[in-house]
Amino acid sequence: MRENNCPPDRWAWVEIDLGAVRSNVRAFKKQLESGVRMMCVVKADAYGHGAVRCADVMSKAGAYSFAVATPSEGVELRKSGIEEPIVVLSEPPISAIPMLIEYDLEPAVYTIEFALAFGEAAADAGTVGKYHMAIDTGMHRIGVTPDDALDFRHAVDFHRGLTCAGVFTHFATAEVPDDWDFRMQCKRFTDTVNALKSAGYETGLIHCDNTPGTILHKGMQFDMCRVGIGLYGLHAAPITASYIDLKPVMAVKARVTRAIEPEVGEGVGYGMTYRIANKGTQIATIPLGYADGLARELSNRMDVIVNGTRCPQVGNICMDQTMFAVPPASVNPFAPSTRVGYGDVVTLIGQDDDEAITLDDMARTRRTINYEVACDFGLRLEKIYV
Ligand SMILES: *Cc1c(COP(=O)(O)O)cnc(C)c1O
Repeated sequence: MRENNCPPDRWAWVEIDLGAVRSNVRAFKKQLESGVRMMCVVKADAYGHGAVRCADVMSKAGAYSFAVATPSEGVELRKSGIEEPIVVLSEPPISAIPMLIEYDLEPAVYTIEFALAFGEAAADAGTVGKYHMAIDTGMHRIGVTPDDALDFRHAVDFHRGLTCAGVFTHFATAEVPDDWDFRMQCKRFTDTVNALKSAGYETGLIHCDNTPGTILHKGMQFDMCRVGIGLYGLHAAPITASYIDLKPVMAVKARVTRAIEPEVGEGVGYGMTYRIANKGTQIATIPLGYADGLARELSNRMDVIVNGTRCPQVGNICMDQTMFAVPPASVNPFAPSTRVGYGDVVTLIGQDDDEAITLDDMARTRRTINYEVACDFGLRLEKIYV
């Protein structure tokens, strides 16, 4: 038993290294051209890392503003004391407008109906609603099309309750080298911004770069970069790894709640998808499962680390518990062997002695991206900040 910083009620937790968050913010600030502002994207509870604690560190490390996905996420930050601008990255339903105004949140906007309703409500409240005009330059997710940009502004700009605090777009392929679609998005965005300016419309802050864009496309930084995944020590694609030194923030750990040595031929877990083949194999249980983000599709396909030794996870991952096998030394006399006992610390994501398992490793096995794996571990496990 090496560590004892787990929650009192549950032997499974996520460890968040706030020093690594600080270091990553600073590393990104060095990537910014002079005068470019840093927006820290903390949507989805900071990609599962805990938005309130992460935003506090980011604010002190020099964030200019924050981005969230929903008004509720913005309210949570305001209630925790964040005073920087907070942008909601998509247009919420009109019913969210009172919340936006009460908590001074700046929505992404692309429909005239929403813009006017927001302006009306702001004027009624004696304030001015700040919004960021989204431009759809090719991803076809949200935004005003470049063709409609001037008409949109013509239809809403008369309103005294509205002010355009920003114009932005989002890249679909910023991490793909020398990409035609990326260049097309850049051209459409630049042309649209220039058309708005020529027509005399206020643009506020112009922003488009995400994590890989900030690193690889300095010419597109404009007034602000929206950095998300990189702040958590993860790369959007391997290509950016040589440009910036990022420190991983999240580790996932548990402690053994039971360890026994079943007879050869005995099965493990629902469906008994694993059977004991070697005498002396230990089956150890840890108290987290797919409801904690340990996706069931990882069953019998992942390892854990205990006492610096990699051990195979065995049997189907359950909703709240998972088993792994500790092979006897006789199976492979050349591999390090270990025995585990009640309370031993198990690393699912992170480093233990010379062994490490990353969110990228797990994402590869799951055929998804590190973003999703991190978000999933944020679902239920308690976060311990170190
Ligand atoms: C999530 C998101 C970002 C951040 O993207 P990363 O790849 O995590 O840096 C930036 N802008 C928008 C609009 C987003 O939705």
